[in-house]
Amino acid sequence: MQKESLCVHAGYAPGNGEPRVLPIAQSTTFKYATTAEVAKLFDLAEPGFFYTRLGNPTVDAVEKKIAALEGGVGALCTSSGQAASMIAVLNVASSGDHVVSTASIYGGTFNLFAVTLKKLGITVTFVDQNATDAALENAFCSRTRAVFGETLSNPSMDVLDIERFAALAHRHRVPFIVDNTFATPILCRPFEFGADIVVHSTTKYMDGHALQMGGVIVDSGNFDWSAGDYPELTEPDPSYHGLVYTQAFGKAAYIAKARAQLMRDMGCCQSPQGAFYINQGLETLPLRMERHCRNAEIVAAWLVRHPAVESVNYPRLPGHPQKALADKYLPHGTSGVISFSLRGGRDAGARFIDALKMISLQVHVADIRTCVLHPASSTHRQLTDEQLHEAGITPGMVRLSVGVEHVDDILADLEQALG
Ligand SMILES: *Cc1c(COP(=O)(O)O)cnc(C)c1O
Repeated sequence: MQKESLCVHAGYAPGNGEPRVLPIAQSTTFKYATTAEVAKLFDLAEPGFFYTRLGNPTVDAVEKKIAALEGGVGALCTSSGQAASMIAVLNVASSGDHVVSTASIYGGTFNLFAVTLKKLGITVTFVDQNATDAALENAFCSRTRAVFGETLSNPSMDVLDIERFAALAHRHRVPFIVDNTFATPILCRPFEFGADIVVHSTTKYMDGHALQMGGVIVDSGNFDWSAGDYPELTEPDPSYHGLVYTQAFGKAAYIAKARAQLMRDMGCCQSPQGAFYINQGLETLPLRMERHCRNAEIVAAWLVRHPAVESVNYPRLPGHPQKALADKYLPHGTSGVISFSLRGGRDAGARFIDALKMISLQVHVADIRTCVLHPASSTHRQLTDEQLHEAGITPGMVRLSVGVEHVDDILADLEQALG
């Protein structure tokens, strides 16, 4: 099936007389007749649901749908995108290990890597994703266990050269983990370009309606764990009666371990009700992405011509430094997110946002509703203009997430607010 059909049908196939719509299995637990049957589940000898932290029919259907969309062998839903990134890294790195990450990543992921993983003894080296091969090679050490990047970075909208980073990671026999949140599998499937693991914040376009927090990790099944240094995957797990994940689960070893070990111990699971909402969003994801991209392209081209606008950052615009990468990896569009800078700095940015009528000020992106955020007066408020510059943010920068309304209404609101 094509992506559009997978969004509607993958993950749930009702039999005779069963609900047409994915049911919400609102239950923490599941019934069995004998202790022997439950014992098999606890030994991971047979698949089956026994406790919703480790698996639930509604959550399982969404995991199967997202795995099918990305072209992976399995997926694990989490309570948020942050939990997905955390588990994705902790599944291959422990205290003393090291990760190479691109620098232009989501602020929350940056804090997770720079502050919290550091406290756990995992160090992260941040690299400029446009650096030379030699500079990137220098970032690796003998304890490097993963490379991390974002297909489209939030909020700077840099396009990642996925093939280049996959080749780099594989030369060092480590997996390449890609945060594909803004692109979604509708616009880009990182596994087709060599990525090994994909993570998403499903809170963004996958849900799309700003209803439900969530995250997901998808395993391509392509990475050869025994060729690298991953004893936790290739040697007996004492917390599972000496089970060896690569032997018991083959290509799905990584995602099986993430669930059996880390979800068991950390408990950041998605709820059945939450998974139902995400599934509802997934059903229309291709339609919405098409509209988000089309509207954003019109808005970006309009902003470029507006005299109050100093610069526009949208990778599909002619002359954008990563236009060629965008054409290669995201030929159908680069999502609805645009950042642009107003002449007149911090005050102009705040005045513009306060004057908007239909477009709302929200700490969110990738919503059906067009929304804006002014970093200099909100998320980066405490920084001086000089510090903002170091963070790659101008005082007049606005992050605009173009929704699915009629584009004429979006342009009319922008026009009246720009004055
Ligand atoms: C929002 C976001 C996250 C974090 O996801 P939450 O669901 O908010 O925890 C991670 N990566 C990217 C690219 C994001 O936009």
